[in-house]
Amino acid sequence: DAPATDLPATAALQAALDLIAAHEDELGRLDAVAGDGDHGIGIVRGLRAAVRAARAAEPGPSADPRSAGAALLAAGLALADASGGASGALYGTLLAETGAVLTRADGYSTALFADAADAAQRAVSQLGGARVGDKTMLDALDPFRAELHARAGEPLPGAWKAAAQSATRAAAATADLTPSRGRAARMGPLGHGHPDPGATSLALLLTATADHLDR
Ligand code: ADP
Ligand code: MG
Ligand code: MG
Repeated sequence: DAPATDLPATAALQAALDLIAAHEDELGRLDAVAGDGDHGIGIVRGLRAAVRAARAAEPGPSADPRSAGAALLAAGLALADASGGASGALYGTLLAETGAVLTRADGYSTALFADAADAAQRAVSQLGGARVGDKTMLDALDPFRAELHARAGEPLPGAWKAAAQSATRAAAATADLTPSRGRAARMGPLGHGHPDPGATSLALLLTATADHLDR
């Protein structure tokens, strides 16, 4: 468990690691349906490295988004390095882009995270070439992003929670999509009826972090 002294970005990543590790086998089984079965193992290994990197790189104080931004930048690089695979680079980019937006802000708000989600989605899409509907993590990220924008004037913890719920519903709904990107695409219709592992893990990450936005 996280030391009580962890700053918000580190604590949020630790919470994501804890929840995703509890689903590690399930994520592996989902990835084995139409992929190579390593998503649970890979994302847990990546998040462990991300937490270590964030803990070493988050200077504080906790109310300063630049502090969390520095931690997320370091975490993204560490995750990409440690996790390997398609999702390692994509997850790493997502965290690092979010961090980069935070390092340019001087206060937390829902609008700030809506902007960060835009940047993260753009970067993931650019790196991986996937679009919404291709049955990837983008299918959880896009509704999360849209919900944050719709609630941009609302307090952050409630807006994030609602957005995470949108991501969770959307991740489950990827079961109805046929993969057209990544390893799963080569297996074509095999994945139909099962949710995408990357969308599922991202929804877990967004759900777990919801409790770390009111510090
Ligand atoms: P690998 O496919 O290299 O084994 P993982 O199993 O860790 O990587 O991750 C698979 C997940 O990565 C997929 O479920 C999907 O959500 C995501 N993914 C794969 N390719 C892309 C892509 N081009 N764009 C966005 N997400 C992708
Ligand atoms: Mg895999
Ligand atoms: Mg793999």
